Amino acid sequence: MGKGVREVGQKGGLQEKNSGNRVQSQDSFMLDLSSSVVPNVPYLDLSIYRETEVKALIRKHSKDMYSLLSTVHFDGNYYRVKCVRSGELECCWDLAVKVQFFGKMQGVTLYPSRSVSEDRKRIVYKSFILVNPYELWEDELVNKFWNLQERLEFLIARILFHECIHVMIALGKILPAGFGETDIFFEFRTVLDAANSEILDLKRREVQFRIWNLVVFGSSEQDSEEDMLMRVLEIYEFLINEKYSTQKAGKAFGHPWGNKRVAGKYAWMAAVKAGGSRHVEKKVWETETRRLRRALVELYDLIDGEIKPGRKTSWK
Ligand SMILES: [Zn+2]
Repeated sequence: MGKGVREVGQKGGLQEKNSGNRVQSQDSFMLDLSSSVVPNVPYLDLSIYRETEVKALIRKHSKDMYSLLSTVHFDGNYYRVKCVRSGELECCWDLAVKVQFFGKMQGVTLYPSRSVSEDRKRIVYKSFILVNPYELWEDELVNKFWNLQERLEFLIARILFHECIHVMIALGKILPAGFGETDIFFEFRTVLDAANSEILDLKRREVQFRIWNLVVFGSSEQDSEEDMLMRVLEIYEFLINEKYSTQKAGKAFGHPWGNKRVAGKYAWMAAVKAGGSRHVEKKVWETETRRLRRALVELYDLIDGEIKPGRKTSWK
């Protein structure tokens, strides 16, 4: 992982590194914002969607998310969505949403940046969501919605729902206790607790061992062992975060994703996030990525077994 990225730290803390044009995000490793020209996408005036319709679709599935978005216009400008006071300190959250074609990644949430006011009494976090409806001409969607405007609104809502889950998880982690928690955050915590439970220890170690190997493959000389361990934990949580977000959004919008499919997509992303095949041949890197994917499917299945409704959870 190079410089010029921002990382979410522990609750209440956020490390900032110098930011340039390239930023790290939840859904991608590196996104170059300067390259937003997409070949092979027919020209389309994206402004035909109605914001109110998109928000109404989201409201059906989460009232908390709807109220988060209620004051936000999808024009790329920042709107204040939360402001809470904790003792002397005021914590605010600004959110921007932009709909734009920018390649083959359906959505990206840029990790929150943090700024502290001069008197140090106010901290403002800023999150940016890019929604890329490039799947607009996919057969399944076209068959479901012949009307282009409705199809676009549905797709934007589905992508935005996924990305807002990441924002709501970040809100819950970063804002002072009691202020950022939403239904989505609590539900995610249940999944994360299961993933970190004693009972899944063996499978978790296997997944983390695979991630460790990938981090070693992609490490640079300056990386200390501590840095690398931190990266393993960060990538592990990223994989749990994506399982939850992808499946929650999929279920809500009638587009279910099984564990195999989620693991296939995100094991590869984790391997890229770990630094790529810097020190080994591509074949070795690919083999290790496949091993991570296999272990991850098993871990995901075990997590589902632990959080089944009505099951007495042994890890609490
Ligand atoms: Zn995601």
